[in-house]
Amino acid sequence: MHFDLLTLYYLAIGTLLLSALMTLWECQDRAGRSREMCILAAGYFGLAVGCALATVRPHAPGAMVPALSSIVMLGGYLLLLEGAAALSGRSHRRKAIALLVMLTATWVVFGGNQSASIWYFACGLPIALASGLTAWEMSRSAQLRHLRSRRVAVLISALHALLYLGRATILPLLAERFGADVVIIASKVTMYEGVLYSVAMPAALLAMLREEAHEQLRDASQTDFLTNVGNRRWFFETGERLLADLPATHSETWIFAFDLDHFKAINDRFGHATGDHVLQIFARVVRDTLRGGEIVARLGGEEFAAILRGRSRCDAIVAGERIASRFSRAVAAEPGLAGVTATVSIGIAEHGSHGTSLSELLSAADRALYSAKAQGRNRIESVPDPLQAAA
Ligand code: GH3
Ligand code: MG
Ligand code: MG
Repeated sequence: MHFDLLTLYYLAIGTLLLSALMTLWECQDRAGRSREMCILAAGYFGLAVGCALATVRPHAPGAMVPALSSIVMLGGYLLLLEGAAALSGRSHRRKAIALLVMLTATWVVFGGNQSASIWYFACGLPIALASGLTAWEMSRSAQLRHLRSRRVAVLISALHALLYLGRATILPLLAERFGADVVIIASKVTMYEGVLYSVAMPAALLAMLREEAHEQLRDASQTDFLTNVGNRRWFFETGERLLADLPATHSETWIFAFDLDHFKAINDRFGHATGDHVLQIFARVVRDTLRGGEIVARLGGEEFAAILRGRSRCDAIVAGERIASRFSRAVAAEPGLAGVTATVSIGIAEHGSHGTSLSELLSAADRALYSAKAQGRNRIESVPDPLQAAA
């Protein structure tokens, strides 16, 4: 197969410029990631300019153009590293500046008579280092860990680093043994891979950023904005899925219905903002008390619900009483809520004994909650066990 090196350079320049434009375009819709996306776009642009300078190398005698080309290209890779690190709130600015200074010094000291060797061999090492660090940054990032496209971006960057590492370490040995032809073939292979990289790396990074945006939207659509627990829709979707997997006779899974007592009076007396604060405290207390992957959601207003698994009736009642007492104490201890007293009424129902579908169980828990309200509030009531009731 015949590759024309210049054509490959032109292709890479085109795809890198397009990637820079596409990234800048998408950046308008991603306010939270606009800085990182601008850095990545600048990186693609730097690589494109580096490639453009490389195309005029044969027509420009001396070390100036190859030096500029390799320094600008390394700058592009370092911007990609900086962009990838910024996605996790980190930076490699000092390392990047040190690498650029070292490469510039190499050109100044040896560039005059070793121009070709520096270009072919020595420039590969810093590129390998920058790409390897980019892969490492993305692979260790806790923020990006759950994104599937992150693995693709890591793989592309790591392969690119390996290729340049080989170019800087193995190629000089091969060139010495087999002559200049090997260098020409290696340049074409490098450039062919460079074209693939210029398409695949921006595509993988954009896919990663889109996946992240998609997850944020999905989380927002399932989370209650004020209290940060699940919302009604999430509760029904997740709860129904969970209950559908249980046999009809399965017991020890409990549905909790919570309703804050005289909450309207808190709003009326202390203001809506205070009411909001009390709701946030309640959500935090329920989440902290039922730790361990339990399902907690705000169904609306001052009404919450939870699903608790693997607990006896006695344990479920103890958990409810703990929530009620911790909530009252947390509100009383909150510095901004002086004078506010808050309590909660709770109704519970058990899967198997009081129904099998979520709507049946929630209605049963609501009946128990109504009974708790009728008996004076600030208490937990369970639906009487049908067998015990009959006895
Ligand atoms: P009960 O003990 O019988 O449950 O009485 P209650 O006052 O708690 O019940 P009621 O249904 O009369 O009032 C609920 C109040 O909750 C009325 C509404 O203004 C308030 N509310 C609903 N959503 C919010 C919210 O997001 N923030 C605040 N601060 N108040 C809310
Ligand atoms: Mg209510
Ligand atoms: Mg209420």
